[in-house]
Amino acid sequence: MYKVKQDREKCIGCGGCVAVCGENWEMGSDNKSKPKKTDLEEIGCNQKAADACPVGIIIIEEVESE
Ligand code: SF4
Repeated sequence: MYKVKQDREKCIGCGGCVAVCGENWEMGSDNKSKPKKTDLEEIGCNQKAADACPVGIIIIEEVESE
C-alpha cells in the first residue's frame, strides 16, 4: 500500500504532476493540484508526479497493509 501526501499550501499550480500522472492528479478550482486518491494499492505513475514536482511537495510513502 502507498500513501500519497502533498503539502498543498506550497503548490505553485504548475500542472507538472497532472501532466505526467493524470490518472491520479487533477487541478482543483483554486489552481492547485490534488490527488484523486491518497491510499493506493499500486504506486502507478505517482512517483513520476513526485519527481516532476518542482517544489518537491509530493511525498509517496509505502505503508504496511493490514
Ligand atoms: S507538480 Fe507540484 S507544484 Fe506543480 S501542480 Fe503538482 S503539486 Fe503543484
